[in-house]
Amino acid sequence: MKQTNISIFIPHIGCPHKCSFCDQKSISGEQKAPRCEDVAALLDEQAEHLRNRAMKAEIAFFGGSFTAIPRTYMEELLTVANAAMKRYPDVYTGIRCSTRPDRISEEILLLLKGYGMTAIELGAQSMSDEVLTLNRRGHTAEDVRTAAELIKSSGIELGLQMMTGLYGDSEQAVIATMEQFIALKPATVRIYPTVILDGTHLGELFKSGEYRTFSFEQTVTLCARLLREFTAAGIAVIRMGLHASEDVEHAMLGGVYHPAFREICESRIFLEDMKKALSDMDRGDYIVYTDAKNISRATGQKRCNIAELSALGYNVSVKPCTGEYIRLCAK
Ligand code: SF4
Repeated sequence: MKQTNISIFIPHIGCPHKCSFCDQKSISGEQKAPRCEDVAALLDEQAEHLRNRAMKAEIAFFGGSFTAIPRTYMEELLTVANAAMKRYPDVYTGIRCSTRPDRISEEILLLLKGYGMTAIELGAQSMSDEVLTLNRRGHTAEDVRTAAELIKSSGIELGLQMMTGLYGDSEQAVIATMEQFIALKPATVRIYPTVILDGTHLGELFKSGEYRTFSFEQTVTLCARLLREFTAAGIAVIRMGLHASEDVEHAMLGGVYHPAFREICESRIFLEDMKKALSDMDRGDYIVYTDAKNISRATGQKRCNIAELSALGYNVSVKPCTGEYIRLCAK
């Protein structure tokens, strides 16, 4: 049975922070906090759709720091979600939320568990204190470690979110963040290349020339490595890059954003593996057999992988073969 999330966006009500990348104008402006009755109605409506499609879902409170919103409102939302889980036990399997590392405590975890919270994602962003400070996060890497251990001890699933290319960031700092994430053994990870939005501190630094983030090419190479290593460590990478959004495209000054960012990284991994497989072979014409599900990854966007191999002297065509990853045959 397929599993999904029913996402409920909770705006960052009264967030006292000013993280360098966060668009405070839009978060404090139009977005209204959802009313509990609207959330209940949404969950009723979605339960029918999900049941008809034989799907299950977690009720996901995303968009901000769920455990930092006013306590009464947070408990009202949890009461609504918990009631929906009881009304539709065949559909709703749990509740998940995203929050800041410094807003986790034993007391809040006990409370969340009581309402049926099954997964918490921490917006860690980096495990470099220098990068966290430069980007005005207001918490430390130690806060991430402490919160992660508390969440795991509570029996709630741990998710970690990281960014690449923040102000003061380096490839080494990103790899160190990945290694520290792996050591914390989360169940899931989300990876977000930095998008520089107008109206943010990063936007100002970018306009003044003080800050340049990683290039697109550098980010793809780096994030392909993150995807490969997290996956090898048994950690599910459940998101790469911001969701496609007209607002982001409109407010974006720079940084890395592509609606198919994950596919591009998957394709880069495939290119690296094809290069490795070809490295012992003479230059010439080859067929790469791979499972049908890998064909577009193998060829790359606009056949970029084929072009790159061709420039190296390998004329490759890709053909489907069930169950194969990369099997080479000379033409
Ligand atoms: S990203 Fe930072 S500033 Fe924006 S809502 Fe979250 S904690 Fe607040």
